[in-house]
Amino acid sequence: MLYRNMPACNLLLSGAIHFSGCMATQTIRMLKLLGLQCISVGTFFRHQRLYIGWMLDAAAKERECEDLKLWRPAIINHLYWTAASTPDGDSDVMEDKWQSMVNHVQDIHEHGTPAFPCCAHPPLEGEARDKEWLEPGTTAAIKLERVTLRTALVKDVRKLSPQHQTYSLEAFNSLILHFAPKHTGFSFLGMYSRLLMAALHFNHNSSREVARTSDGEVRYAVRYPRFCKGGWVVRPIKEKPSYAYAAALMESLSEGYSRSPETLRESSAEIAKDEAVGLYLARHSQFNTGN
Ligand SMILES: [Zn+2]
Repeated sequence: MLYRNMPACNLLLSGAIHFSGCMATQTIRMLKLLGLQCISVGTFFRHQRLYIGWMLDAAAKERECEDLKLWRPAIINHLYWTAASTPDGDSDVMEDKWQSMVNHVQDIHEHGTPAFPCCAHPPLEGEARDKEWLEPGTTAAIKLERVTLRTALVKDVRKLSPQHQTYSLEAFNSLILHFAPKHTGFSFLGMYSRLLMAALHFNHNSSREVARTSDGEVRYAVRYPRFCKGGWVVRPIKEKPSYAYAAALMESLSEGYSRSPETLRESSAEIAKDEAVGLYLARHSQFNTGN
């Protein structure tokens, strides 16, 4: 079935890979090994670029925005901290905390916002000051502000769930490793969207009931966590995690695409190959004549 010149199944496959947190290259290689016809890795990344965060992708690639990459881990941590440090889930406080990040990366720690007037960290001195601060007014700073403070994202930040995150930092960190394994490097957009998927999965599953045997007895497991240095702990086993949110995402992806404006479906950055080669040859011949 074609949806405005794009096979709908291809888009849904990209969505399924992304929403399940799988690695695109490995999943597609596996499907091909099975002899199944499927999209190329390039198509997956094109879908990701077009549908899940094309603004962020553009920001990471733009000239003079290289410094944003240095701040990527801090920004990701800040998103988590924003929720975890607001146990009462006050949306205004979480929004102001999230927005303060844009100031902080520019070495501005007073924000003048009522709910979060200044940074929570102690005054920065010595080595703590030795950071690649973004210069206010530079392309990178403006781009970061535009991307991280866009209305849809700020609305999501206001709805972050704090209760389950305050005591489950360890679980959340291991979940991030599931969605974004350390052995693979991701683009800014890839990392960012995988972190959002990890947060979504975490919130969806954080209030799971404990698993019980057929007799109704609570099930327990013995674990050997690294911090116990060979020691053991007993933990109740929870019910299996649910990926029900992925089905809802797939549905809204399909629905959203059918209603998306024309501009969303076309990449303005692409140029016809013949045209690009023509321009290249024209420049090249000018250069030769000049010599
Ligand atoms: Zn600060």
